[in-house]
Amino acid sequence: MTILCGRDIASPMSATVDVIVIGSGAGGAVVARELARAGRSVMVLEEGGYHPPKEYGALTPSRALRTLAREAGLGLAVPLGDTPVMSVLAGKCVGGSSVLTGGVCFRIPDDVLHDWTTRLGLDGLTPDRLAPYFSEIEKDISVEVVPESMRSRSSELFVEGAASLGVPMKSLRRNTSGCKGASRCNFGCPNGAKMSVDIAILPDAIAHGATVVSDALVETIDVERGVARGVRGRFLDAQTGEPSVAFNLRARVVVVACGSLHTPILLKRSGLGTTHVGRHLTLHPAFRVGALFDDRVDGWDGAMQSVYSDHFAEDGITLVGVYTAPSILAAAFPGVGREHRKVVRSMPNLAFFGAMIHDDGGGRVRRWLSREPLVTYRMSKRDRHRLWRGVGILGELAFAAGAREVMLPIFGAEPVTSVQELRALVARTPSTRKVECMSFHPLGSAKMGKDERSGVVKPSGETWSTRNLFIADGSVLPTSLGVNSQLPVMAMALRIARGIEADFARYLRQAA
Ligand SMILES: Cc1cc2nc3c(=O)[nH]c(=O)nc-3n(C[C@H](O)[C@H](O)[C@H](O)COP(=O)(O)OP(=O)(O)OC[C@H]3O[C@@H](n4cnc5c(N)ncnc54)[C@H](O)[C@@H]3O)c2cc1C
Repeated sequence: MTILCGRDIASPMSATVDVIVIGSGAGGAVVARELARAGRSVMVLEEGGYHPPKEYGALTPSRALRTLAREAGLGLAVPLGDTPVMSVLAGKCVGGSSVLTGGVCFRIPDDVLHDWTTRLGLDGLTPDRLAPYFSEIEKDISVEVVPESMRSRSSELFVEGAASLGVPMKSLRRNTSGCKGASRCNFGCPNGAKMSVDIAILPDAIAHGATVVSDALVETIDVERGVARGVRGRFLDAQTGEPSVAFNLRARVVVVACGSLHTPILLKRSGLGTTHVGRHLTLHPAFRVGALFDDRVDGWDGAMQSVYSDHFAEDGITLVGVYTAPSILAAAFPGVGREHRKVVRSMPNLAFFGAMIHDDGGGRVRRWLSREPLVTYRMSKRDRHRLWRGVGILGELAFAAGAREVMLPIFGAEPVTSVQELRALVARTPSTRKVECMSFHPLGSAKMGKDERSGVVKPSGETWSTRNLFIADGSVLPTSLGVNSQLPVMAMALRIARGIEADFARYLRQAA
């Protein structure tokens, strides 16, 4: 795949194209490919660098995060009130966050769509109308069921514990082809087996004439008489990584796909959007328990994520099998010095069970001192209850699976050794601030709304404030989903791209 590297561009660039897409992640890649296939001249501008699988496969996990993730994977949501401190991960590379996913694929659950169509009035988003977009993307990115033979022992124990408590588990679907179970999906698949958009979508966009430029930071969107006209920004310097050589590009249609953390920042920097910009951010707070077994688990052997349960979906809790690189897990273990070494040595006997909350959306993204946004999050009372309930469920499943000790995601808490101890600890409900949480699915910071009062974009993806300016990424999803977000982002982006193409003559007239 030929990518134009912004770091190699030495003189200012100007050009005119039909469509500029800002961001090459799950949403941006899909839009770029669709419009290139329709014969439009398309340019994709991506702030991150381009790293093919053989390159990131050779990186240690921490190095991969420094190379492929925003803020080296150390971004966080500042907690307001009784809220956990949450790390928030996002990709910054060609392919965006899709390069870092566990590959897990879900469609938007029917009850979520029912809420969107009835309460929010987004009539077109019914399961039937979205199904063809999902089917198409699933084919494109090779969504397949994880075979039982690929389950790690950690996942098997999760399933066994759940079964003995009457909780059914199902096999996950992932976007993989030829997965060898390297169990390091979150750092880029070293075997090129995860069908992230840099592998499954962008090459086709380029084959249809799209230009993808890496290391190209878009700083403002140009608007004249209420119509988007293009973008300005700077290529990043090869030595310092700082913005350097300028570009000034004109387009008939501009599509923002910077992800939920950066789309609002770009809109605000450009003085665009409604009051909703940057508000209503949902995070799918995720957590895990570590379970110590007498026998070896070797949880790194097998697919990193292979099972889930929607048994508690009505209560806003989804159980998901998890694992990650032992070096990353070890950093989060309790204790210091000798105590910490003891836990690290027990790693082969540890399984990990995970869950996430279908949250209310108490997050906000604001511009502040640096390039990265200030993200704040206030967890609702309902979600705090869900969080504690989820921690309790995971702990009970671990004991039911035969765990000797369970490490709860509570900073400073000693491992518990019995169900009674677990229940007592959860019932005491220490401050939710002490819970160790992560977010991989920031959504909703430029949400879709049926009118200008209720959202930033129309159901078509065009912004209410500016003609010919579209948003097609996770920020338009109007609520959290309760399930992983990449497939929903891509299906929505495909729907938006089809709408742009269907109405292109109108956008040309508006741009004239
Ligand atoms: C570690 C991790 C694991 C995940 N696991 C899963 C999973 O298993 N299953 C699942 O469904 N989802 C998963 N997700 C979530 C999924 O990856 C995201 O929901 C999805 O990729 C979001 O797509 P997007 O287009 O909104 O943003 P992104 O894919 O994040 O793309 C945004 C792109 O825009 C670029 N950009 C931002 N600002 C600018 C600018 N001003 N100029 C130029 N470029 C810019 C960014 O660098 C980035 O590359 C995971 C995410 C992470 C981080």
